[in-house]
This record gives sequence, C-alpha cells and structure tokens, in this order.
Amino acid sequence: MAAKQAQRAGFSTRAIHHAYDPYAGTGDLNPPIHVSSTYTFPTVEDGAARFAGEQAGYVYSRVGNPTTVLLEQRIADLEGGEAALVTASGMGATTSLLWTLLKPGDEIIADKTLYGCTFGFFHHGLARFGVKITHIDLTTPANLAAAIGPATRVVFCETPANPNMRLADIAAIAAIARRHGALSVVDNTYCTPYLQRPIELGADYVVHSATKYLGGHGDLIAGAIVGPKASLDEVRFQGIKDMTGAVLSSQDAFLILRGLKTLALRMDRHCDNAQAIAELLANHAKVAVCHYPGLPGFPQHELARRQMTRPGGMLAFELKDDIEAGRRFMNALGLITRAVSLGDAESLAQHPASMTHSNFTPEERASYLISDGLVRISAGLEDTEDLLADVEQALRAA
Ligand code: PLP
Repeated sequence: MAAKQAQRAGFSTRAIHHAYDPYAGTGDLNPPIHVSSTYTFPTVEDGAARFAGEQAGYVYSRVGNPTTVLLEQRIADLEGGEAALVTASGMGATTSLLWTLLKPGDEIIADKTLYGCTFGFFHHGLARFGVKITHIDLTTPANLAAAIGPATRVVFCETPANPNMRLADIAAIAAIARRHGALSVVDNTYCTPYLQRPIELGADYVVHSATKYLGGHGDLIAGAIVGPKASLDEVRFQGIKDMTGAVLSSQDAFLILRGLKTLALRMDRHCDNAQAIAELLANHAKVAVCHYPGLPGFPQHELARRQMTRPGGMLAFELKDDIEAGRRFMNALGLITRAVSLGDAESLAQHPASMTHSNFTPEERASYLISDGLVRISAGLEDTEDLLADVEQALRAA
C-alpha cells in the first residue's frame, strides 16, 4: 500500500501495511529479512557520497538495515511521530536517547516510580557523568512547575508507571517542560500507540521496550525511540553508533513487524482480561487496593479516560497481609506464570518485594511507593474464566 494512502487508513491497516509495497521487487507478501551486516558501493565515489549523506543507500547495519528501517517507519507512523529508531532493548532505547540529549551539568526530572533498570541507569550511569537526577511526584503536574529550572533538560515519565500504575498527565507535563525549554520523554511501553500516543499529546519523544506488547510473544528483546527526525539522526550517529551500539537484528525486527499485525486485536483482549481480573480483586476481602485505570475508584480514572483509549493490560494490587501473603499468592498461582516482563500471550505475575525490588530495604521500597504486598499482573490472552479461577484460588491460599 502506498504510504500516502496508508496515512489515511486506520490503526490496524497501517500496522499491517504501512511503508511496504508487496508488489515491488520479488513480490513477497511479507517483507524480506535483510541479513547483511555491510553493503556494497558500485564505485569509491558512490561510497564517498553515501558516507557524506549525499546518496541514498545503506552503508553498515549498525546505522541502518532495510528490515529495521521498515520497522522504524511503521512504529513512527503508529505513534504519530516524525521518525523512529529501533534498538536492541528497551534499555538500549532509553540509554541511546539520553546519552545523546544530556551533558554534564544538565538535570533530568522524573517521577518517584520508574522501571527499576531505568532508575539504575539514571543513578549509576547518568549521575556518574555529572547529570543531576531529581525525583518528584509527577502525578501532580504543579510539582513539575515548581521543580523545573534553567538546568532541566529532560522530563522523563512512564505512564502507567511500572509497577504501581501511577499515571502522569502527558499533555500538562509536556506543556510545562516546553515552556521552560526542556524536552519531555514518555516511556509508552505499558500502553503501546494503540492505547496512548504521547507525541499527539505534546511530548517530544516516546521510548518503548518492544520486548513487551509490540513484539507480543515473549520471544525477543528490543526497543524503540520515536521523535523528531533531525534529533533521531543524532541518536543514530552518536548515541547508538558511538555510545551504546544497541543495534536490533533484522531477524528480531521481522518478528516485531509480525507482532504489530495483531497488536490491536491483542491489546483489546489484554484490556478485557485485565478489567475482569481487576474487578475481581477490587472486591475481594484479602485485597487492600487494586490499581487499575479502568476501575471507577482508581484515583486517576478521569485522566486515564482522557489520555488512554482503553485502560491497558497491566494491573497491580496490594494484599492486606503484606510480604508473606504476597509470597503465598505467588506460589499458589497455577495458570498465571511467575515471571518478570509483560505483554506476552501468557499471563505473568511478579511480586516486587521478593523479586525485582528484593535487594531494596522496605524503607527504600516505601519511598518508591512500592508496598511489600504489591503484586503486578500482566493479563495475557488466555480465556478470562480460566484466569479468574486461578486468581480466586491463589487468593484463598494467600
Ligand atoms: N520500560 C519499561 C516500562 C519496562 O517495563 C522495561 C522492561 O521491563 C523497560 C523499559 C526495559 O526494556 P528491556 O527489558 O526491553 O530493555
């Protein structure tokens, strides 16, 4: 389908067709997987022109490969961004972008809750090289207006945040950042562009762990950045080429292209299952609170309705009896699998206090707003009744 026609088409049509013409070349219905690490130059002058950016064409797969470029075009289109860059992992996306945007003396402001390895990168990576890290409660945009200053270069948020589901008002945060000359970056892993498009709400960049819903089958590790083309060219030729080398293989790019074809269908099913599990948990005597944007009692329910098309496939809940109850619940699960990661066909559960955040003290966990009874569930694609039966029997054991 011609790109122009695809721009006017719906989300799934573009997720399946954008930027690929099946009648061109050898007529493959599916885009071929290009497996070459390097590319030939007919003459040395052609080589010189390509290095100078004066001639279209590929040079070396660390900076571009036809299969990864197709994936980049598709992700940029779905997110409503000018360009995209795919990376070897979600962390590769965040690190390649931020190493390019930040320099010593700059400040980055983020919420108190962040995916653990992003938090680790900020404090073990960026901070060591002279970037100031400031954590505030980003659920209230006024806190950003009060904290932002002349040195603030980037405001970074996840929404919903991993693992406690706090939301950030993307439009409000992006507007405050822009007013102060700072850039806003949103980790859109939990939502995917099917549920939330931060760039349309005013954000400058989106990052993804494509390992999750975009790939969708738990069989690869990948990431993506979406943003302005000129800036992503810098990320490509500095961040990824010289600093992180976090290059995605064309085989994995192909798997994500395949995953994108069913993204909308999968996300709807993830949302249906998460809503049903959240409703069961919210009304259960052993549960203190269930954090799911689709529950009317969720404190940011109105914001969720405004900036997300549906509440997503992720939820978290807190058992009344704290850490031991969390362990009993986890060990009693049958169908729902004990594992980190999310966005797979299989429903997955993790207990941060005994898994991802077990090396934090209870006080540290509390300061990052992660209680010891918190359990996170990634609702998969199984039959809803089977998932509800598993949650019910595990709650009896908790
Ligand atoms: N961002 C979020 C919200 C995540 O949950 C993860 C991984 O769990 C990442 C980023 C990092 O992605 P990856 O594991 O692909 O490096």
